[in-house]
Amino acid sequence: MTANTGIPAGAKVVYTAEVPAGEYWMHEIRKGQYFRIVDLKGNQAADTFFYNAHDYADRYSAQDTIRAQGNLYLTTGTRLMSTGGAVLLTIVADTCGRHDTLGGACANESNMVRYDIAKRHMHACRSSFLKALIDSGRGMDKRDIGPNINFFMNVPVTPEGGLTFADGISEPGKYVEMRAEMDVIALISNCPQLNNPCNAYNPTPVQVIIRDGAEL
Ligand SMILES: [Zn+2]
Repeated sequence: MTANTGIPAGAKVVYTAEVPAGEYWMHEIRKGQYFRIVDLKGNQAADTFFYNAHDYADRYSAQDTIRAQGNLYLTTGTRLMSTGGAVLLTIVADTCGRHDTLGGACANESNMVRYDIAKRHMHACRSSFLKALIDSGRGMDKRDIGPNINFFMNVPVTPEGGLTFADGISEPGKYVEMRAEMDVIALISNCPQLNNPCNAYNPTPVQVIIRDGAEL
């Protein structure tokens, strides 16, 4: 494991991996396990989606998560709600302090509309999500993608209700940790975006860590 994960020696780590810049990652997290994502180099958006491991149609709901907590931003204490009204995971630690669930995942189409027709074929999170779902062999596809979480991404809402892609506030070694409240499947697209400041124009790896035990 890399040094700056914030995990103390002796913790019951059962799985860890470094997700390279621009790649996807998918893995099951069992009820009661802790799931940490570490922004190894800082200013890296980790586009993330969660599914009930036993019913893929019951999946992360940005709308229900926002409604349940009465706040637009995700941080410690946020319960990540499913479309079926269950709690998938709870955020129990957050050294970054601000995560977005409004901006959605970058896509070939949005890259083209926002930036340039020539950007259409650049690598994008939506393509990574699709490839991960198809490669998983679970029979999942396009219909299993919805509004997601952008961990470590700073999308402040203006007093007028506008959305802005602001410069990141995350730094090397910042992490967010969640406790799974049911068996879930996590899907990450480690965002390859080069056209806005969500990755500081330089995508970098993130570390994922799953552990048994208790809150640290
Ligand atoms: Zn992206």
